[in-house]
Amino acid sequence: MTTKPKIAIVGGGPGGLMLARLLLLRGLEPIVFERDRHADDRPQGGSLDLHAETGQRAMRLAGLEQEFRAAARPEDQGDRLYDQNGVLLFDRDGAGDNRPEIDRTALRQILLNSLPSATVRWTSKVDVVTPHKEGGCDVVAGGASERFDIVVGADGAWSRVRPLLSDAKPLYEGVTLVEFGFDAERHPKIDALVGGGKMFAVGDNRVLIAQRNGHHHIRGYAGLRIPEQAARDWMMTGPDRIRALLRDAFAGWASALTDIVESGDFIGVRPLHALPISHRWRSRAGITLLGDAAHLMSPFSGEGVNLALADAADLAEALAAPKGWERVAAYESIMMQRARPAAEGAAEGLNSSISSNGVAAVLDHYRERLAG
Ligand SMILES: Cc1cc2nc3c(=O)[nH]c(=O)nc-3n(C[C@H](O)[C@H](O)[C@H](O)COP(=O)(O)OP(=O)(O)OC[C@H]3O[C@@H](n4cnc5c(N)ncnc54)[C@H](O)[C@@H]3O)c2cc1C
Repeated sequence: MTTKPKIAIVGGGPGGLMLARLLLLRGLEPIVFERDRHADDRPQGGSLDLHAETGQRAMRLAGLEQEFRAAARPEDQGDRLYDQNGVLLFDRDGAGDNRPEIDRTALRQILLNSLPSATVRWTSKVDVVTPHKEGGCDVVAGGASERFDIVVGADGAWSRVRPLLSDAKPLYEGVTLVEFGFDAERHPKIDALVGGGKMFAVGDNRVLIAQRNGHHHIRGYAGLRIPEQAARDWMMTGPDRIRALLRDAFAGWASALTDIVESGDFIGVRPLHALPISHRWRSRAGITLLGDAAHLMSPFSGEGVNLALADAADLAEALAAPKGWERVAAYESIMMQRARPAAEGAAEGLNSSISSNGVAAVLDHYRERLAG
């Protein structure tokens, strides 16, 4: 391999774009293959909180801390917990916390603005990556094939790169979220329900969530346990029928809470999947993974994007070092160690938030977190 390897990053999500930025700062010139047609091709999803030692650290290393602070919402770090009758059991405003929220679209835009336009190849869905015995891989996207020394799979849950390293597949977690959107000004009751951050209402194997986003938006989620086939069917079902199904599932809940399902704009059905917690692979020259492609977990630990950004920071450092490839195995080991407790936390968070124990266990968890 030459001192300046040719690097393909498959996937222009937060992890892939952060890696591209950090490699460019170190004099390397990666190409990002992204299947979206442009930055606004599809809604990017809700708000993310960046943690000091992972997400925020990566933004700092990328020289983008100022841009992050300008777009972040430190005022939206509060937590509320309700029972299914709408009784408020826990309320803290989060003032002084250091996990500022940022809209996913804003984060992606900050990263995109930091890259030369030629770095990201839009409308470039990677179909196949073919490794060669003599080293390097052909990356096939949109019918064109190009040889790279190093391929990084930053292509999320259903990665096309991961099968070159591991047989692991994301498994359905038994829980599906249905997502809704609100304009806070048009929905003052939802606005009041959420408080200064996000709210959970927890009942028997069900949860209603609402979270403040930027620009007066609020995202709402109804979460419940349904079989995998039902989740697939729901994905093919129209909003009116979904609302009727949720009306049945949340019958008896306070109307102030079910308003999330009744009055929100339907966005989509999201079955939650995760890779096995101990997912690992034997290091293979020229191919590696970062972010969800490596350690997909449910959003119940709030760590996914933070891990993706931290992975990008560590991998950029490894790749930019002399004989960088030799350091990638060490990167993979650190990444796997970091992801494991987060994946355990995500599984535990999901199973305690959506369980037959109802709200009591969640309230204990909130109080423990506050105490310690
Ligand atoms: C409902 C929900 C809420 C969440 N909330 C939080 C939260 O509060 N905090 C948190 O830290 N995390 C949260 N997460 C998790 C977080 O979104 C992910 O962990 C994070 O986006 C992972 O980043 P990534 O760059 O690894 O992958 P992704 O964000 O999935 O990006 C992958 C990119 O690859 C592209 N791509 C995929 N396949 C191909 C292909 N074949 N060719 C080319 N491009 C391809 C995709 O279009 C995408 O742009 C949440 C997830 C969900 C579903």
